[in-house]
Amino acid sequence: MDRPLAPFHPPTRLLMGPGPSNLHPRVREALAAPLLGHMDPLVLGLLTDVQGLLRDAFGTENLLTLAVSGTGSAGIEACLAGLIEPGDRVVVEVHGFFGGRLGEMAARAGGAVTKVEAPWGRAADLEALRRAAREVKPRVIAVVHAETSTGVAQPLAEVAEIARDVEADLLVDCVTSLGGMPLHADRLGLAAAASCSQKCLGSPPGLAPMTMSPGAAARLAARTHPVPFYLDLPLIARYWGGDHAYHHTLPVNLVYALREGLRLAAEEGESERHRRHARHGAALAAGLEELGLEILAAPADRLPMLTAVRIPAGVDDAAVRRRLLEEFHIEIGGGLGELKGRVWRIGLMGETSRMNHVILLLAALGRVLERSPDAIGQAIDAAGAVADTQAVGAR
Ligand SMILES: *Cc1c(COP(=O)(O)O)cnc(C)c1O
Repeated sequence: MDRPLAPFHPPTRLLMGPGPSNLHPRVREALAAPLLGHMDPLVLGLLTDVQGLLRDAFGTENLLTLAVSGTGSAGIEACLAGLIEPGDRVVVEVHGFFGGRLGEMAARAGGAVTKVEAPWGRAADLEALRRAAREVKPRVIAVVHAETSTGVAQPLAEVAEIARDVEADLLVDCVTSLGGMPLHADRLGLAAAASCSQKCLGSPPGLAPMTMSPGAAARLAARTHPVPFYLDLPLIARYWGGDHAYHHTLPVNLVYALREGLRLAAEEGESERHRRHARHGAALAAGLEELGLEILAAPADRLPMLTAVRIPAGVDDAAVRRRLLEEFHIEIGGGLGELKGRVWRIGLMGETSRMNHVILLLAALGRVLERSPDAIGQAIDAAGAVADTQAVGAR
């Protein structure tokens, strides 16, 4: 380099894509606290706190509950690698991009994968899943709880019943759902669930909360085929909650931040947090429809924290997203896979799920799409009306 580089001062953007979401000031402060060593007794104490907070978030008493160092994908891959022995039959339910990835990861873990597919944008085909489960008799069934590529929610209770019926381990990708919609790992009898820090938990990316039932953990401990070293959950658990034997260098500042994000969630209360996500997701959907846009998912299947909306004919996908970013400092997501160029994905996750953000997005998108001031006003009204009807101690 022939010149010194200027310091980087990122602008404050409104992160309304499919994750990451905005950080609460308390989480940002936690992130910037002095670094401690990963063997410092103070850090080891934090791990116990985080495990307890994560058990509450997952709705579980599982001893094997921790955060894998890595993003959500690392947590999912650690669980899949732990549950699948080479040649094991695995049924994966696929109705979007992340279901497809779950199938790919299961196959790379050595599983003999049967995919049960439903059209992208629709809910799971439960009858097809039940049929496949009875036919294949899989060791593992893997599903995505909140399909972030389409904005569709998975009917987990029904899927759990199918898994119980065929005595399969149920593994759930909760990357987008955890912290934004109800999840009770123990009540559902989940064998394993994995999430990420940067979506509805409102922390920076880099940690993957996961939990595994005692039965699944025992099978993992007894397996004959080794798992990849870095994703070896028993070794990671030994560092987190056992004799703290070194396995890898914990990203300590990310743990400070996750702990603060989880503390904020606990202060808000689980049901209020879920209600907040539901209220603002419904408000956004009403406002978008008032702007004349079509939402991909049917009303009954919609996620509260992620809305996929069809890009109107003749509208330039990239140009709209660029104008939102440059003129309004708002980031939204584009489509993935077969929905690339066909949908925008608007996230209301964690701290981002606030009514002022809904209104700002509707106004900014309305302007970029050249809607009239009246039409924009009506969209904001429609969103406000929906939020009001759902407001119980609304903030
Ligand atoms: C974001 C996401 C992932 C991947 O998580 P990363 O943190 O990007 O690794 C996996 N599954 C779903 C459903 C997601 O939304």
